[in-house]
Amino acid sequence: MPQTPSRTLSDHEKALLQIRSVPRPQAQAAARKRAKAKAQGQTESPLALTRQARKINRILAQTYPYAVAELDFDNPYQLLVATVLSAQTTDVRVNSVTPHLFDRYPQPADLAAARQEDVEDLVRPLGFYRNKASAIIRLAAALHQNHQGQVPQKLEDLVKLPGVGRKTAFVVLSNAFGQPGLTVDTHFGRLARRLGFTQQEDPVKVEKDVAALFPPKDWAGLSHHLVYQGRRICHAQRPACGACPIADLCPSYGIGEEDEQKAAALLKYELAPGREELHLLFLQGASRRQLQAQGYPLSA
Ligand code: SF4
Repeated sequence: MPQTPSRTLSDHEKALLQIRSVPRPQAQAAARKRAKAKAQGQTESPLALTRQARKINRILAQTYPYAVAELDFDNPYQLLVATVLSAQTTDVRVNSVTPHLFDRYPQPADLAAARQEDVEDLVRPLGFYRNKASAIIRLAAALHQNHQGQVPQKLEDLVKLPGVGRKTAFVVLSNAFGQPGLTVDTHFGRLARRLGFTQQEDPVKVEKDVAALFPPKDWAGLSHHLVYQGRRICHAQRPACGACPIADLCPSYGIGEEDEQKAAALLKYELAPGREELHLLFLQGASRRQLQAQGYPLSA
């Protein structure tokens, strides 16, 4: 499996791979300044918070210019089913299962008529396979019976489908139909709190607070950027603060590893050490499916 570069990278390629780096003294100085302001009782104005949030999003957009939904799909039906299947498992694992599932059941009517045991066999690698098989069969039946086999394009219709909540609905609306949507999953919520965009835990309240900071046209991109950042750098357990491109802007700087070298070793997916070739190919526009076919590792 091609993990490490088989050749010496050119200076141009090395420059392409550089993500914004914040020297530790600079990040620490910014953290001290924030702590001092807080100790003096100064609070950030809504305008300052908005500016800061948008600056963070711009840097993350430069860090992950290739950020897209990490579930593979060819149409809204596939994305809806894949998103329901992605509960409590990884997108990489869902992507390994869905090609077989959609080969066998290309339309909602096919899946609605499937035998539960056959679907269970196909989704078994995802865990909770009985519940998941039952959920997607019921979902397909609702699409077939109530929506002529089409995925509805309105939030209020989507959330009435069995097993579809706001997050799943917004994933479909923003990625399959190009509508504005914030997809508040576990990474999004954690990052929004660490970055000071919200103090809330409830996903609907998080969504409301974050929506107030960004124009709707930025919501889909922001969702991808926060999820990419959460998976690659700002991990739940041990954030790689010392390798983080927004270390000087983040109010939570220092909750993770500050040492630059130790932090770099914590990076995941295409940013992981030894995956420079994969990272370059993403930057050059390769799709996940192409890279997977070539044997590149796409998991953490
Ligand atoms: S890795 Fe550290 S500095 Fe970067 S966003 Fe997460 S908590 Fe903030």
